[in-house]
Amino acid sequence: MADQNELYQQVILEHNKKPRNFSVLEEASHYALGKNPLCGDQFAVYLKLNEDNGTIEEIRFQGSGCAISKASASLMTVNLKGKSEEEARLMKDEFQKMVTGQLDPDTEPHHLGRLSIFQGVKQYPVRVKCASLAWHTLEAALNKEQEAVSTES
Ligand code: ZN
Repeated sequence: MADQNELYQQVILEHNKKPRNFSVLEEASHYALGKNPLCGDQFAVYLKLNEDNGTIEEIRFQGSGCAISKASASLMTVNLKGKSEEEARLMKDEFQKMVTGQLDPDTEPHHLGRLSIFQGVKQYPVRVKCASLAWHTLEAALNKEQEAVSTES
């Protein structure tokens, strides 16, 4: 567990300092804005789905927030590129279950890969919304929701 925590800290620091895919995507086919008023995190997620097979061709995010919310969004974009919409939705559900303690990535099957480092978040209930904000926003983008999504709604 010590190693896991260390890895978690490292990844958060690294992705917070150098977030991946951190820019506006002008040619986005899907877009949503997500807010976590409890912490002040606010991010937009941009997607471009492939017109032929529906896979996520490009995914980017933009905004501001705490280290956990930013690192989570960054790692999400890295892991979702090339995935199908169905896979993305499945990963969103699994991530949400993991950070709320309903899925143990060490003993149960999942598709989260490296995202499983966020399992430690479940020990900090106020941080769960920071970690899952990007995923809620992703889902809203896939659903083409017009209103900004909030973790408090
Ligand atoms: Zn936060």
